[in-house]
Amino acid sequence: MTTSSLLILGRGSDPASERGVSCPGELPAASDPDLVDRARAAKAALGDRLFVLGHHYQRDEVIQFADVTGDSFKLAQEAAARPQAPYIVFCGVHFMAESADILTTPEQRVVLPDLAAGCSMADMATYDQVEECWEVLEEAGIADDVVPVTYMNSSADIKAFVGRHGGIVCTSSNAKRALEWAYARGSKVLFLPDQHLGRNTAVLEMGLSLDDCVIYSPNRRDGGLTTDELRDATMILWRGHCSVHGRFSLDSVDDVRARIPGVNVLVHPECRHEVVRAADQVGSTEYIIRMIDQAPAGSAWAVGTELNLVKRLADRHPDKTIVYLDKTVCFCSTMNRIDLPHLVWSLESLAAGEVVNQITVDEETAHYARAALDRMLALP
Ligand code: SF4
Repeated sequence: MTTSSLLILGRGSDPASERGVSCPGELPAASDPDLVDRARAAKAALGDRLFVLGHHYQRDEVIQFADVTGDSFKLAQEAAARPQAPYIVFCGVHFMAESADILTTPEQRVVLPDLAAGCSMADMATYDQVEECWEVLEEAGIADDVVPVTYMNSSADIKAFVGRHGGIVCTSSNAKRALEWAYARGSKVLFLPDQHLGRNTAVLEMGLSLDDCVIYSPNRRDGGLTTDELRDATMILWRGHCSVHGRFSLDSVDDVRARIPGVNVLVHPECRHEVVRAADQVGSTEYIIRMIDQAPAGSAWAVGTELNLVKRLADRHPDKTIVYLDKTVCFCSTMNRIDLPHLVWSLESLAAGEVVNQITVDEETAHYARAALDRMLALP
């Protein structure tokens, strides 16, 4: 069995990665008709001591209990802006809860209702692999020229690595500004862990060519690259991707254009380069929501992002045609790990005075990860 299948099954543990473990304690049955009332009652009992964050890709049954919804960065900021709430319940995935722990006060406890809610993209870059990559760059004599940039969707360990090596964190909305910052400090960038966001930003927004980019494959000797290839590259892309956004293909775009004349294709920059090129618009989750909210009645949209969000947008705008970009529907399986039984279990445990599934980042890791996050927050 591969480590990825462990992630999906939610069993086993790997302390060096995003992968979680089974839930301790008694989970309520999914068929319990009182789950909604139980969640409401536990929330009411906790009152101002609780703040529930809900990522846009969460299920409807969970998102209805969120005090605020947003993308990973907005939610981390929201958590940091609530120092009076001792309990932050993060309905999202593991790396997001880590970022919330890094940005909140030491007294605040961040809870992830299901520890198996990891992120397959974040899992594609482990600390040991990134250290090994850096050694390869050192041996090639280029490490001093390289500024590491990591996407928000990475573990705290990777953010800390980047912070320690003078690099920066970015989100899908500020990736261009982060790359400008990095290229002002070095002639090369190592972009972690999402090759697509890195390539799309470098080529479509920074004017680099595809030939300026190389792919470092962590499972191959020296990343599968020669010293000359590394020396010639301006952008070293880590071979990682999002298993949801990576599914959309050029065929999905051609197919939807044939099915819905005049459709606007709107995709996330985690999609493959050819898909982004073929789309009409590209932007972060928050951008996608804004575009659909502002679109005129009667317009048609094919949206290339996670299905829970696309379904909600379609429900919210019955006057517009909103479809999922691919014919095969696909939820983020790890986001979907957070369901109502897990939420009820974590809220009732907190109401009973027991903190379950707390996510903590050790002080040294948090210190360097915060350095990389602070550089992002200071971007113009
Ligand atoms: S949608 Fe992709 S990047 Fe986001 S949590 Fe799921 S696997 Fe990770």
